[in-house]
Amino acid sequence: MFLISAITVRKGRAAQKPLRPAGRRAIVKICILASSSAGNALFVGTDRTRLLVDAGLSRREIAKRLNAIGEDIDSLDGVLVTHEHSDHTSGLIALSRRSNGPLPIYVTRGTRECIDWGECVPLLQVFQAGCGFPLGDFDVSSFTIPHDAEDPVGFTITAQGIKVAVATDLGYITDSLRFHLRACNVVLLEANHDLEMLRVGPYPWSVKQRVMSRRGHLSNEVAAAFIKDDLDTTVTTLVLGHISEHNNHPALVRTLAEKALDGRALFTQLVVANPGMQSEVIYY
Ligand SMILES: [Zn+2]
Ligand SMILES: [Zn+2]
Repeated sequence: MFLISAITVRKGRAAQKPLRPAGRRAIVKICILASSSAGNALFVGTDRTRLLVDAGLSRREIAKRLNAIGEDIDSLDGVLVTHEHSDHTSGLIALSRRSNGPLPIYVTRGTRECIDWGECVPLLQVFQAGCGFPLGDFDVSSFTIPHDAEDPVGFTITAQGIKVAVATDLGYITDSLRFHLRACNVVLLEANHDLEMLRVGPYPWSVKQRVMSRRGHLSNEVAAAFIKDDLDTTVTTLVLGHISEHNNHPALVRTLAEKALDGRALFTQLVVANPGMQSEVIYY
């Protein structure tokens, strides 16, 4: 089953938290439907509210991956969009059209202006980067991220004290990001490239410079330094994602992250998202 093989779970000295809580109903269900340079979509849901963060896969692929975890694409209550790049928005317009009414799309003003909506008249909920809003069972907070997009944001999504953060497409780790990643239970953090693989890899020099810049993507090395120095003790599931298919490898990410975690007295389960494949479901 690809659902099982799609993730790499850290096996370490610490007891691993079960993916499904024993003895009580789960409050929040999370699945990384895709997290890589080729496409990004994250499912976060409660019994009553079901959200996607980004829609960087085709509608058909999103429907298929939701089905695989027992969710229906027509039951989504909204899509939160981090920024306009196609690996986060390629399925957005197709997703917004559905027979049971338009799907609300939450975007910043700048991101809205940069998406070609074509003939589509989407149901947009525009918010200001840095602001928060309630969305069904969830409280959503947004924060600006340093990336070469018009008005990009990361999110924290909280229900009944369970806090999930999405922080990918980052040139570097800002103080604001450190603040927002505090007190989280689940963090999806970018580990985009290995610096040496990027340097000798196939991209043109101009693209390499863009990826490495302060408005580019986070390297394994910087992600590992964050884990070592700043990862909050509350984080019991750390997902490393947005892994480049050309300039990185999941095994390399795992090795570096395990090394960084080994220096910390944390009970953190490490999940490394394989490019293009969905993760196992994580329950809280
Ligand atoms: Zn991007
Ligand atoms: Zn991206």
